[in-house]
Amino acid sequence: MGLAARLSQGPSAATVDLCRVGPHRRALTVRAFRCPKLRQAVAFEAQQCPTCAVTVGYHYPSRQMVAAPSQTLTVDGRGWVRCAHWERGCNWLTADDSASGRCIADSFVREGPAPDDNEAMPNSTRP
Ligand SMILES: [Zn+2]
Ligand SMILES: [Zn+2]
Repeated sequence: MGLAARLSQGPSAATVDLCRVGPHRRALTVRAFRCPKLRQAVAFEAQQCPTCAVTVGYHYPSRQMVAAPSQTLTVDGRGWVRCAHWERGCNWLTADDSASGRCIADSFVREGPAPDDNEAMPNSTRP
């Protein structure tokens, strides 16, 4: 589906494409999602809506951001939990019966850096 067709769907669409200027002054097109509460655009990697401050998580099956105010939540009648890497900045949700507790994206990572590897894990040193 082209961008024009997507935009013509109006504010009810689950996602919206935004143009951002990247780190090297290149224009990047970033897929933005919408806050489940007030439907403003929320960046794909966001864990919190910048406008209403609701905590959001990415629900992979529906390709939508959902409100994730607690560690566990119910989406479409199923139990979901925040990814085990939530504290490292991952905003994906994973099924509550997942053995690893990691989201689909993180489950592709077989071996991560050691928890005390501060160079590889800059997020873990943030206050
Ligand atoms: Zn919001
Ligand atoms: Zn994850």
